[in-house]
Amino acid sequence: MGEFDLINRYFKRPPTGAVVLGVGDDCALLQPSPGMRLAISSDMLVEGRHFLSTVDPFKLGHKALAVNLSDLAACGAKPLAFTLALALPRADAAWLEPFSRGLLALADAHACPLAGGDTTRGPLNICITVFGEVPPDQPLLRHRAQPGDDLYVSGQVGDARLALEVFRGTRSLAADAFTAVRARMEQPTPRVALGMALRGIAHAAIDVSDGLLGDLHHILNASNCGATVDTVFVFSSDATSATLKQLPPALALDCALAGGDDYELVFTAPAAARSAVQAAARSSQTPVTRIGQIDAEPGLRLLDAAGRPLTQRFGAFDHFA
Ligand code: ADP
Ligand code: MG
Repeated sequence: MGEFDLINRYFKRPPTGAVVLGVGDDCALLQPSPGMRLAISSDMLVEGRHFLSTVDPFKLGHKALAVNLSDLAACGAKPLAFTLALALPRADAAWLEPFSRGLLALADAHACPLAGGDTTRGPLNICITVFGEVPPDQPLLRHRAQPGDDLYVSGQVGDARLALEVFRGTRSLAADAFTAVRARMEQPTPRVALGMALRGIAHAAIDVSDGLLGDLHHILNASNCGATVDTVFVFSSDATSATLKQLPPALALDCALAGGDDYELVFTAPAAARSAVQAAARSSQTPVTRIGQIDAEPGLRLLDAAGRPLTQRFGAFDHFA
C-alpha cells in the first residue's frame, strides 16, 4: 500500500461541516461561523512517552484526538476540524484500520472532521492540530481567575494515574476495577460540551493533562493569585472513583491531585454564579465538584479533611524535569 492509497483508504472522507475542502488538495479550506474567533491547538503523542507500544490502536486513535479536543474544551471552543500529521514505521493495515476507526468515531461524535494532514515513514508519532471557534468576548482563559472565585473540577480525577501504576507493576487491582481505570487512561472524555456551556460563566479554565495541582498552578500564575484546595473532596465527593477512594489516603491524594492524563476541566467562577455553573453541568451532562476557592494571597494552600494545612508534597509532570 502506497502513501496515497493509505490516505485515501483510511483518512479521506467527503467534506462536511466547517470543512469546505478536505483531504486531497494542497490546503484544506475551513469556513468558521461569521464573527467567531478561531481557536487552534496542537498536541503530539510519541510512542514510549505518551502511550505504551502495546496499546490498542483503536483506543490510541481516540486518545490522540481526545487530548486535542480537551484543549478546545478548556477554551470553551466548539470543534470545527482537525489535521493529522502521522509518522509510521510501516503501512500496516492491521494497525491503520483500527487506529483510523477510533480516531474518526470520536471525530464524528464531536462533528469535527479530519481536514488534511501529512504522512511519512518514521518512528510512530501522532501530531494533531484542532481548529475550533469561540465568540470573541467569551474564550475561557488562564489569566482571568479572581480572588473570591469558587474553584471546580469536572468529572473524575486520579484513575488514569492509578491505571499507569498498575501497568508499571507498583499496584494491583481486581480485574473489573482495572478495566474501569484503564478506560479512563486510554480513552479520556474531552469535556467539550461543558466548556461551551461555561462560556460567559467561568472566569478561568484549564484542562488537566499534567496533574490537577500542576495545571491549577498555571491558572494561579497567569492570574496573579493563589488558591485554597479542600482536599477532603478526594475522599468525600463524586470527583474520584470508589476504586480510588479505597487506596491508602496518601496514594489516593497523589493520584487525584498530581496524577495527570485526566483531561478534566479545572475552572473558576464567581460565587454568585453557583447556580449557573450547576445549570451548565446539567445541560452538558457533566458532573462538576467545588474543590476550593481563589485567594488574593499568592500560593497554593491545601487543607486536609479536618481543615488543617496538608503537608504532603506533590509534583506535576514535566517532560524536561
Ligand atoms: P503535500 O504534497 O501538499 O504535502 P501530501 O501529498 O502530503 O500533500 O498529502 C496529500 C493530501 O492528503 C493533502 O490534502 C493532505 O492534507 C492529505 N493528507 C496527507 N496525510 C494525511 C493524513 N494522515 N490524514 C489526513 N489527510 C492527510
Ligand atoms: Mg505532505
